[in-house]
Amino acid sequence: MLETEALDVEQVRADFPILTRKVRGKRLVYLDSAATSQKPKQVVQALVDYYSTYNSNVHRSVHTLGEEATAAYEAARERTARFVGASPKELVFVRGTTEATNLVRFAWGERFVEKGDLLVTTLMEHHSNIVPWQLLARSKGARLEYVGLTEEGTLDLAKLESLLKESPKLVAVTHCSNVLGTINDVEKVCSRAKSAGAATIVDGAQSVPHMPVDVARIGCDFYAFSGHKMLGPTGIGALVGRKELLEKMDPFQGGGEMIKEVFLDHSTWNEVPHKFEAGTVNIADAIGLGAAVDYLTGLGMSKVRDHEVKLMRYAMETLNALKGFRSYGPSDPSTRGGVLSFNLADIHPHDLATILDEEGIAIRSGHHCAQPLMRWLDVAATSRASFHVYNSYDDVDSLKAGLEKAGEIFKV
Ligand code: PMP
Repeated sequence: MLETEALDVEQVRADFPILTRKVRGKRLVYLDSAATSQKPKQVVQALVDYYSTYNSNVHRSVHTLGEEATAAYEAARERTARFVGASPKELVFVRGTTEATNLVRFAWGERFVEKGDLLVTTLMEHHSNIVPWQLLARSKGARLEYVGLTEEGTLDLAKLESLLKESPKLVAVTHCSNVLGTINDVEKVCSRAKSAGAATIVDGAQSVPHMPVDVARIGCDFYAFSGHKMLGPTGIGALVGRKELLEKMDPFQGGGEMIKEVFLDHSTWNEVPHKFEAGTVNIADAIGLGAAVDYLTGLGMSKVRDHEVKLMRYAMETLNALKGFRSYGPSDPSTRGGVLSFNLADIHPHDLATILDEEGIAIRSGHHCAQPLMRWLDVAATSRASFHVYNSYDDVDSLKAGLEKAGEIFKV
């Protein structure tokens, strides 16, 4: 790739005021974007603009402020939908990925799943793509089975095929693991699941922020993601669903705005996606998400992806050379997203994270809301460094120096 086509990290960093702050007297090295990303000033400004110039409820008032807010909210929906190759009618604003999977659990699951049905998920899922299906299986008397993993940390596709022979009702799979970094071939999984008659839901929490995503090409029934991991505000995310399916589903919550007409004994529903957006919606943060989408679109998602692959390659080369360093997931950086989970000898990840914090380095330590995966890896916890558009080779070098220091303290 030509250098001119690469992401200009210095220019990007200038948009993130938080990166200039010091932590414990050191330069902040933020390597925890998989938990939540930082926000560029353009996103913060969109929130300030909304609250200081046109704050108003949406879809209700005919006054100027109300119309401006409605237009901005719906424009954010339009841009967010296009960003992932969907139509705005198919995009429901939710709180985040967790609310999206729970929406499907209730609005789709309560309607379509029956006693004895099979639901399928995988061993590399975040709890938000496991627990809702456990709850659904319990309430319906259905069965939940898991697709296991290969040594390399990829899906065991033979197991998937054998489960598909049992005609499952649902296949739930992550696009990119928040622990292993594995990018799954969700297009293939969805096409195989569809041939077996299953509905499909893809968890896009770690993919939409980092790579070009086209839900139409993936061919899933549902696709979920969170705004706060893609440079947007917390409290906003999206569930993209096939329109015919959304139309057939029950509402998620009942209340204002999701209805067409309310009678004493029954109600009728608003058209999708509004049928799933009961009450006053999260207007400001949806508008903030629209600004994040504009920001990422401006950078270009292919460039974002290339940047992160380069960074991951450098990180894996640099850190794998450290004594006692063990990373998890695929060995080829081009098949991984922007997360690198690891352990350093037998230092507890929380101790490691505490030592790194002394150096101004923020990583995550723990089970990463993926306890079944931790058990499969046979570890109680891992440390995890995760990248985004503002991370540089310098950040990787700082992490290496911090890990060397930890190694000295613990005599690795
Ligand atoms: N899925 C994956 C792969 C994630 O990494 C996360 C966040 N850690 C979630 C789902 C849940 O996202 P949220 O907390 O924004 O609902």
